Amino acid sequence: MSHFPVSGYAAKEVGQALEPFTYESPKLGEHDVRVSITHCGVCYTDIQGLDDHYGIVDFPFVPGHEIVGTVSAVGPAVSGLKEGDRVGIGWQGRSCMQCEYCLQGQEQLCQDIGNCGTWEPYGGFASSIVVDGRFAYPLPAGMPSEMGAVLMCAGISVYTPLRTYAAEGSLKVGIIGVGGLGHLAIQFAHAFGCEVTAISSSPRKEEEALKFGADHFLLGEDEASMRQARLTFDLLLYTSHAKCDWTSLLYSLKTNGRLAVVGFPDGPVTFDPLELVVHQFSMAGSFLGSRAGMKEMLHFAQMHAITPEVELMPLSQANAALKKVRGNKARYRIVLFNDMGSAQAG
Ligand SMILES: [Zn+2]
Ligand SMILES: [Zn+2]
Repeated sequence: MSHFPVSGYAAKEVGQALEPFTYESPKLGEHDVRVSITHCGVCYTDIQGLDDHYGIVDFPFVPGHEIVGTVSAVGPAVSGLKEGDRVGIGWQGRSCMQCEYCLQGQEQLCQDIGNCGTWEPYGGFASSIVVDGRFAYPLPAGMPSEMGAVLMCAGISVYTPLRTYAAEGSLKVGIIGVGGLGHLAIQFAHAFGCEVTAISSSPRKEEEALKFGADHFLLGEDEASMRQARLTFDLLLYTSHAKCDWTSLLYSLKTNGRLAVVGFPDGPVTFDPLELVVHQFSMAGSFLGSRAGMKEMLHFAQMHAITPEVELMPLSQANAALKKVRGNKARYRIVLFNDMGSAQAG
């Protein structure tokens, strides 16, 4: 129990490729579970982590926070999970459980969020991980593991704002970006009964966006189409990281409309404040989801047959997978499966 080696893939320094990396597993705390990882999705935030885009990453850095695996050990205070259970784990692997937000059941807003990531100390591109068992979610029976993995970050990130702002249905919703998050946002918004418009800079995405459940497609860079869409949407959900024309997007909101942001835009966000005031627009950020939201989202996804489009690649090809994601070539989410053999897993 005291000695538990983990095999993974780490970048030793910012900007470097991943290489095999072995480390000692953190000790199992009383609420913790150890999970043998079978699958881990590749999120754009992993790329931003490797680039240390926000200056918050420690190296060596093991990315990965869309994790599915099997519980292999449980701490003495863990309830509801046992060895052999299949669970999913997202970006948040623990929380302080005592700040005002944790006590409200909004654990994703924990005041100690900087220390809550499953990346701490090392993430999911590895043979196993230790997290607080209260942040490990049993997957519905029959849900393929690679699909469960994608729901752990991409899924919850878009489900939460749609559940908050569009759950009553029949709203006109614009989903900005048809990628890892966007292709799920289209499906969730459609399942909530909304009239969904996919907004992308790539005309090639139209056919697939309609297949995912979008009612309409709008080319975001086409000024004439955007002008036509003026005062159309009750809610816009930005799921991308690409630069865009924020002013023309705001123009497409209805009076009292809302722009919700879940992606981290690479460039600055600028817009015309006159429109914001005169039309009473709101802007909202949304970050992951609560523990209760995770359980609800998994159930909802199962009930409504939300289907992430997954490309499976072996974990040993993690660098190639990251390159595809970086080049915007993933359709729509790459999930790595653990091909390191079971010898070192436990
Ligand atoms: Zn993510
Ligand atoms: Zn807290």
